[in-house]
Amino acid sequence: LQVSVVALRSPTGAEVGTVLVFHDVTRLQQLEAIRQDFVANVSHELRTPLSLIKSAAETLLDGGKNDPAVNARFLEIIDKHANRLSLLIDDLLTLSKLDAERVELDIRSVGLRAAVQDALDDALTLAQPRAIALENQVPVGLSAKVDAAKLRQVLGNLIENAIKYGRERGRVVVQGRATGAAMVEIAVCDDGPGIPAEARSRVFERFYRVDKARSREQGGTGLGLSIVKNLVQAHGGEVRVESELGRGARFFFTLPEAEANGNGTAPSARG
Ligand code: ADP
Repeated sequence: LQVSVVALRSPTGAEVGTVLVFHDVTRLQQLEAIRQDFVANVSHELRTPLSLIKSAAETLLDGGKNDPAVNARFLEIIDKHANRLSLLIDDLLTLSKLDAERVELDIRSVGLRAAVQDALDDALTLAQPRAIALENQVPVGLSAKVDAAKLRQVLGNLIENAIKYGRERGRVVVQGRATGAAMVEIAVCDDGPGIPAEARSRVFERFYRVDKARSREQGGTGLGLSIVKNLVQAHGGEVRVESELGRGARFFFTLPEAEANGNGTAPSARG
């Protein structure tokens, strides 16, 4: 709390009172702390892959390149961590555009069953090695007013997470419904280990991970869910997560509902 003191004077100049002004700077200080935290996190996240790349390059330069086995292994390390750096930078740029509200949305009426099917098809190669079945339960005729490319990014992130953190030989199901308040709700559900209660409120924070090692091993940047949250909010929707430990996680997001029309969507079959 910042306090300014102003003397109150009569027309003759005599002091007749004092005005105390209280400025609530808590919010400003919080924002500054968040910013500092973010910069520290970004630096750390950039430095980790960079130092792995550097030491692999040094090993190769120190003569490792003459041994074919060492050569292949260290080039792979360099490639893997360079890819990670580039994913991280893409995510950071996406977030910075969202922060600056520089994301232009091309809002149209989008049929959700087809959009979900496209996102599930994209995720097939990720699901197959883990033998996870993907299921589209979104009803025909459900449509939202949304930027189709951004919706794909949101669905892609949530489906990818459900596969990465879900149970091997498990099932990922996407559901959809109209909530009745001119909004639709999409749910991405898995049957994996779920998310502990204390982590549930934090998973949408930048760089928050329940299991850091696991996330990094899976190639995660720790930014996926914060991008999801920002993209959904840019459309006027909200995100939330429900989970029961050992029984999976369900991520929900809402979007403004669109009347089903001729835009490549089937006629409404709801009700
Ligand atoms: P990451 O790049 O680490 O996947 P995200 O922002 O997408 O970053 O997710 C943040 C963290 O939330 C993950 O590291 C993981 O610990 C947890 N998480 C996300 N989705 C799930 C899920 N379906 N089941 C269990 N944990 C999840």
